[in-house]
Amino acid sequence: MESAEIRRRWLRFFEERGHKVVPSASLIADDPTLLLVPAGMVPFKPYFLGQVKPPAPRVTSVQKCVRTPDIEEVGKTTRHGTFFQMCGNFSFGDYFKEGACELAWELLTSPQDKGGYGLDPEKLWITVYLDDDEAERIWHEVVGVPKERIQRLGKSENFWSMGVPGPCGPCSEINYDRGPEFGPEGGPAVNDERYVEIWNLVFMQYERGEGTGKEDFEILGDLPSKNIDTGLGLERLAMILQGVQNMYETDTLRVVIDKATELTGVAYGAAPGSDVSLRVIADHMRTSAMLIGDGVTPGNEGRGYVLRRIMRRAIRNMRILGATGPVVEQLLDVVITTMGQQYPELLTDRKRVEGTALAEEAAFLKALKGGTNILDTAVTETKSAGGSVLPGDKAFLLHDTWGFPIDLTLEMAAEQGLSVDEDGFRRLMKEQRERAKADARAKKTGHADLHAYREIADAAGATDFIGYAFEQGESR
Ligand code: ATP
Ligand code: MG
Ligand code: MG
Ligand code: MG
Repeated sequence: MESAEIRRRWLRFFEERGHKVVPSASLIADDPTLLLVPAGMVPFKPYFLGQVKPPAPRVTSVQKCVRTPDIEEVGKTTRHGTFFQMCGNFSFGDYFKEGACELAWELLTSPQDKGGYGLDPEKLWITVYLDDDEAERIWHEVVGVPKERIQRLGKSENFWSMGVPGPCGPCSEINYDRGPEFGPEGGPAVNDERYVEIWNLVFMQYERGEGTGKEDFEILGDLPSKNIDTGLGLERLAMILQGVQNMYETDTLRVVIDKATELTGVAYGAAPGSDVSLRVIADHMRTSAMLIGDGVTPGNEGRGYVLRRIMRRAIRNMRILGATGPVVEQLLDVVITTMGQQYPELLTDRKRVEGTALAEEAAFLKALKGGTNILDTAVTETKSAGGSVLPGDKAFLLHDTWGFPIDLTLEMAAEQGLSVDEDGFRRLMKEQRERAKADARAKKTGHADLHAYREIADAAGATDFIGYAFEQGESR
């Protein structure tokens, strides 16, 4: 089943069951606490918090999501993309646990010719939160899942919360057993590659009290109305329904891998290392297109930096595979044509998306030349001094003058057998941000805000490099 059909079926199923279909919001979150939208519920936050009345008591959507923290997993696990689509159904004080579990089970297991996804019920495993006896009872008694396929997981996996104070509640996840070729048996509690998580059902039922972190907080009591927030990864379901090994081999991404193969001559399946590169390229090019499509432009800060980092990593991996010239135009063409079927705005906006991406590629190819010289010199200096750690100021310089994302510096240093002083790099980045803020304040008030400089100096202590960094900052 094609990705586009998975999406259509999702929306149709929930629409037929009284949900209002809401189009995906932009990846640029309308929320000052978030850079990019990481989950389907984000556009509905004001409804859950009771700040705005929802358009209907039940809604459904397929939301574009970007999760930057998953970048390191891409291509290495079988199931993490930086961009993915989260299919969701939501209830604002309408149905609760029982309704959510029944709907999910019906859609996943009803036959494909009846509008469902036709998954084998015996391959589905459930996790519930440690003390959520009610969810276990529903899965077993109402839905009919045998007890052996229901497992309990703790707070870090199966408990959700948002803000302090704010709503919180247990989750229950549906996982699919991909079989022994993906590892030993034992259920999702012991093996998350074999028993891949596909759908998370969040039961928002309590009010969360003070407390730090994800795990250490009090529960104050029940919420006035209980809500449902669910998210199913479209690419993960596509991986199962299309019978492929990982999400990068599903229909919308495999074509990008094939294009990268055509451009580099490196076949998919030739070696584990080059396969990771090909998967990174496919994922990152798609994410870049979706970000630019929603109006992000490459830069050294915030969302612009997320895009720059992801796009440069894709280009760099193409070079590792042997590409020497520009590659973005051809890769992007495939992404836009494929994703354009579900997101037609990519097609109408094609020229702008291409223009932005090509300009970034040109800038990066130039930067790679200049940056590689600086890096090589720094590597030689470090090695000849008997060191094994590239100083943080070199990583900062590469970032500041050539736009080298830190992971690019890390990778290139590692190729030469060196690690990087990441803490030093981050400290300098922080100092630079503080300086930019001070500059902005000075512009506003018309005079230098010495107080802010004082703070930076106090926080950083005296180092030689600060003077140099100030010069750099002020001369630009
Ligand atoms: P995992 O444990 O596999 O990292 P998660 O628990 O972080 O997933 P949730 O926050 O529960 O994921 O998101 C809901 C669903 O979205 C998941 O069940 C999964 O199907 C999908 N999903 C989450 N992260 C990704 C990703 N990086 N790429 C593709 N799909 C994802
Ligand atoms: Mg995760
Ligand atoms: Mg999980
Ligand atoms: Mg989850």
